[in-house]
Amino acid sequence: MKFNKKLQNIKTYEAGKPIELVVREFGIEPKDIVKLASNENPYGCSPKVQSAVAKIIPNMALYPDDSMLKLKNALTKKYALEHKNLIIGSGSDQVIEFIMHAKADENSKILMNSVTFAMYEIYAKHVGAEIVRTASQEHDLDEFYGLYKATNPAIIFLCTPNNPTGDAIDTDKLMEFIEKIDNDTLVVVDGAYMEYAAYKDESKKIMPQELVEKFENVIYLGTFSKAYGLGGMRVGYGISSENIIKELYKLRPPFNITTLSLEAASVALEDEEFVNNCIALNFQEMKRYEEFANEQKIDIIESYTNFVTLCLNNTQNSTEISNALLRKGMIVRDLSGYGMNAIRVTVGTKEQNSRFFELASLLL
Ligand SMILES: *Cc1c(COP(=O)(O)O)cnc(C)c1O
Repeated sequence: MKFNKKLQNIKTYEAGKPIELVVREFGIEPKDIVKLASNENPYGCSPKVQSAVAKIIPNMALYPDDSMLKLKNALTKKYALEHKNLIIGSGSDQVIEFIMHAKADENSKILMNSVTFAMYEIYAKHVGAEIVRTASQEHDLDEFYGLYKATNPAIIFLCTPNNPTGDAIDTDKLMEFIEKIDNDTLVVVDGAYMEYAAYKDESKKIMPQELVEKFENVIYLGTFSKAYGLGGMRVGYGISSENIIKELYKLRPPFNITTLSLEAASVALEDEEFVNNCIALNFQEMKRYEEFANEQKIDIIESYTNFVTLCLNNTQNSTEISNALLRKGMIVRDLSGYGMNAIRVTVGTKEQNSRFFELASLLL
């Protein structure tokens, strides 16, 4: 059977392996498996979310509130915005998909960092757009500007902090950069880990309302999947000018967020204390990874997120090491697919991290 030609050179996105799969493949008990592969919050979500969602469960017959009033009210309050500046997606992934379809086609170029979130490329290929990447591993905005001038891209993706490397762009530099970009190029600022960066270093903190006030051609992306501990609920959002949001809305399927997810995300925003505590614990535990890397004499990239990227030596192979860890029930991310001899490890709870150090020290 023939399929859409655009799909021919797409490599299916490989998500972090679920615990169920490791149980099946390696016969390990679920309690002995640690998943540090997808940057979820290891402490879960606020207990308030759990009880709010439980109350919804008996009422699942009706379609969700498609205006998403409660969640939009909570988000506009948090960010001091208006509803017209907001679109909610089934994960911020879905917003990226809308952006791509709204702005790009076969004649477009999409500019992104050499190493960055894999879904930008996949969605770009859906519309047949050409991908342009920087050479440098960290976002180098001078290089971005040169490539912007040379290729006139439809969309520029800036991922800060960046996944899978964990580094972040200085807010001042980001603002200066966007200032120089013409209005017909859409700048996407993906802040999936912004809660962590803002906590660690004020100079990396990006306020979406400031972006929207200053620029017509920027969209900020946020998600509930990481710091808010709701990866299973699939809720993300885009914040932008009214014009851009209106276009994205044309692509949105009705009822794209379930009733349970809308409730979970709304209530999660009522308990910022929970999230802040998780973030504090995250950076406390991250110190142990820095010490571990030091002891093992491997490089660790300074991280503004809830994961660390361990760059291995020439004598070590990231695929072999992540497979060996997997056989012991430790799921981490091999970055060989990104052209790096490195593994990405989500910072887990104290016990989970200790287990990682124990297993990894036998292999490194
Ligand atoms: C996790 C992640 C997302 C998307 O997460 P959703 O679960 O789809 O909201 C987007 N960008 C980056 C950089 C991420 O790491």
